[in-house]
Amino acid sequence: MNQDMNRDAAWRVALRSEKSAKERSATPRVTMPMLPADYRITCNEEVNRGLSAEQAVLEASRCLDCPDPQCMQGCPVSINIPGFVKNIERGEFLQAASVLKMTSALPAVCGRVCPQEKQCESKCIYNKMKKSPVAIGYLERFAADFEREEHAVNPVAVERPAPNGIKVAVVGSGPAGLSFAGDMIKRGYDVTVYEALHEIGGVLKYGIPEFRLPNSVVEAEIDGLRALGVRFVKDCVVGKILSYDDLHALGYKGIFVASGAGLPRFMGIPGENYIGIMSSNEYLTRINLMGAGRPGEDTPVLKGRRVAVIGGGNTAMDSVRTARRQGAEAAMIVYRRSEAEMPARIEEVEHAKEEGVQFMTLCNPVEYLADDKGRVCAMKVQRMELGEPDESGRRSPQPIPGAIEEIPVDLVIVSVGVSPNPLISHAISALEVSRRGTIVVNDATMQSSLADLYAGGDIVRGGATVILAMGDGRRAAGAMHGLFHEMSDVWSVSDDTDHDLNG
Ligand SMILES: Cc1cc2nc3c(=O)[nH]c(=O)nc-3n(C[C@H](O)[C@H](O)[C@H](O)COP(=O)(O)OP(=O)(O)OC[C@H]3O[C@@H](n4cnc5c(N)ncnc54)[C@H](O)[C@@H]3O)c2cc1C
Ligand code: SF4
Repeated sequence: MNQDMNRDAAWRVALRSEKSAKERSATPRVTMPMLPADYRITCNEEVNRGLSAEQAVLEASRCLDCPDPQCMQGCPVSINIPGFVKNIERGEFLQAASVLKMTSALPAVCGRVCPQEKQCESKCIYNKMKKSPVAIGYLERFAADFEREEHAVNPVAVERPAPNGIKVAVVGSGPAGLSFAGDMIKRGYDVTVYEALHEIGGVLKYGIPEFRLPNSVVEAEIDGLRALGVRFVKDCVVGKILSYDDLHALGYKGIFVASGAGLPRFMGIPGENYIGIMSSNEYLTRINLMGAGRPGEDTPVLKGRRVAVIGGGNTAMDSVRTARRQGAEAAMIVYRRSEAEMPARIEEVEHAKEEGVQFMTLCNPVEYLADDKGRVCAMKVQRMELGEPDESGRRSPQPIPGAIEEIPVDLVIVSVGVSPNPLISHAISALEVSRRGTIVVNDATMQSSLADLYAGGDIVRGGATVILAMGDGRRAAGAMHGLFHEMSDVWSVSDDTDHDLNG
């Protein structure tokens, strides 16, 4: 056991004696301070304001520091949850941020957008006690924000190993690519991230709106990677501007493809091509990445008075709440199952309701109608009921015969899922891809059918979550490093690069 762990054990004992488990569990869960709904629909300001230091310390004191912390089983990147929470409890906020950064490249992002209620918090021991779980996500955000806002030089940051001279390329700068880049640079690799767009961050920048995840937060996390030495090349579409062979010619020994699933799906129903019907991808990218709707910006975007968003995931919630902020008088979610089956984070659903969004659940559009200029003016909606569970485990929606109604709308945002962009698989014909267009990998190593090409995130999963994408990036980095290690005779990879990825 090293010195740090001894110190850790000592303060845990001290803390346990300070507050009894009964006192800890009697403390109610903290409430996140937030902007009032009537104000926030007038602007793009972040809705959740973050905990104060006092709130964070009190919330952290609820954690029972379980000997076998089940919360960690629920975290796809295995964050040492009691470790960082207990640092907050004793006021060591930078230490808490360091613990987070050992396993997560983007804690300020994950603290804001991870579905904690389905992951770490769902496994917290408090659930068994019929009490609200420790607010792990709020605490994660608090520690990461503290470090950023204090512009703190983290005293626990470990120096990264000497460069090993081996070049690796990353395709795509979303959470999977960033997480891979962070782990590899800390192991001494020479890392370059190629991004097709003019901004780094993937969906974190072009998808998730400012009111939920400010770009400045994402930018600060990217700056951290830049400071470690990661290079970013924007406006470079791999598969068009650079080929697989070009990457080899540039000296890259390993490639991690994290190009996401940016191809929107449509329902294929009559009238879906009318003016005023677009995908969430297009709508959110215009507004979040290209500044549409902001004074002085050139990018146009249609503004509707009666806006229907089709779908029940995070993308749908982001779109409908954006529509409210763009001035929609009536903004509605149209979802074919019931609210219980909605994949969106519960908090986003609650926030949408507070902001006046109408929820038309058990409804499915079957046709759009247009005016004489070809612009959508109404949708025909089929009422549904829930039948037996389908292959997703959720009860499948069945149409109620004859229950169709017509609803006036002037803008429709389709948010029914995404598919992987086929560019990379078309450009690299030897790459094995599934029928869905995802890159086929070994689940444990993320290695593809090509020995030097690994892949992770939505391009493999076909649309998942930030933390799962990050977990893939970490696994791929560990496995690629292992492969290079086996080949160390050829490239002389240093043996001492496998320590804690701190910093
Ligand atoms: C609107 C929206 C809201 C969401 N909300 C949440 C949420 O609250 N919580 C959550 O956990 N998840 C959420 N998700 C899902 C989550 O954002 C994704 O699962 C995650 O971003 C996937 O990460 P990734 O790195 O695989 O891909 P992406 O984030 O999609 O990044 C891929 C990047 O690769 C680039 N790229 C593509 N092709 C090429 C190429 N040929 N050459 C170079 N670059 C290329 C793209 O431009 C993009 O920047 C949301 C998704 C959307 C769209
Ligand atoms: S399960 Fe809950 S109480 Fe136990 S260590 Fe994890 S967060 Fe703390």
